[in-house]
Amino acid sequence: MLDKLANDRSDHASALGADLVGKAAVITGSTSGIGLGIAHALAASGMKVLLNGFGERSEIDRTVAELAEIYGVAVGYSGADMSKPDDIAGMVQLAQEKFGAVDVLVNNAGIQHVEAVETFPIEKWNAILSINLSAAFHATRAVIPGMKARGYGRIINVASAHALVASPFKSAYVSAKHGIVGLTKTVALETAEHGITANAICPGYVLTPLVEKQIPETAKARGLTEEQVIRDVLLHAQPTRQFVTTEEIGALAVFLCSRAARSITGAAIPIEGGWTAQ
Ligand code: NAD
Repeated sequence: MLDKLANDRSDHASALGADLVGKAAVITGSTSGIGLGIAHALAASGMKVLLNGFGERSEIDRTVAELAEIYGVAVGYSGADMSKPDDIAGMVQLAQEKFGAVDVLVNNAGIQHVEAVETFPIEKWNAILSINLSAAFHATRAVIPGMKARGYGRIINVASAHALVASPFKSAYVSAKHGIVGLTKTVALETAEHGITANAICPGYVLTPLVEKQIPETAKARGLTEEQVIRDVLLHAQPTRQFVTTEEIGALAVFLCSRAARSITGAAIPIEGGWTAQ
């Protein structure tokens, strides 16, 4: 009886993440915000992590060293530009060489621009579509052969509540985020028999540099003060009236990587304080 209880306990432990120790993850756009939060959570669960994104090189080196020291896992960095398919292939190759595999891919890098559709700059549209949508396609196609060969893989696309509903003045972002849900579902269907899952996480507003930057842009587009934008636009969308945190999103990503989540695939999972329930 006690043996059975002990076995049950260890089944629960491994279902909830103990099986992640030693796995390797690539997280795009992880020098900041949500990607960095996910990198912390995956490293805390024992995974090796490859960071990616822009920023001051000295600050990035400090983050890499910090993660390695806090969690005792191997940590690397790729400066690949997610708007460049060759860079993306190089990033996946670097991770495969450094870690021997890519078990988890988190497509998170993203940018935003807030402006009415009739004056929306064409170069911004192209950049948002390539970084927020096409980059996930390029990275996904590069990791799938290895995941299929090993019979395990987790592809997590950081979409948005804007993958499920629209807001004005965000035509490129809303289009890319709706698109990534379509990519997620298709990849889920193509990989379902190979131990691979593909899911989209759909956060509401998280107070990261991406959101901080759009507060003045939204104020201008809507003729509001910045305080009004936070209270009447951003948090107004979320019935909890609170920002979602990067730690909450990191915990969801860890769960999606676990054995317990193996039957969750092709899903678009809201983590948005009730926004899309309205
Ligand atoms: P952020 O600006 O804090 O971080 C974006 C990251 O992407 C940074 O590391 C940046 O260097 C990187 N990046 C940008 N362009 C890149 C490129 N061309 N190549 C490589 N890396 C690049 O933003 P965030 O809020 O953490 O956003 C991360 C993701 O979460 C995005 O996909 C965003 O759309 C999504 N999201 C954010 C929120 C929010 O409220 N912050 C809500 C829903 C979804």
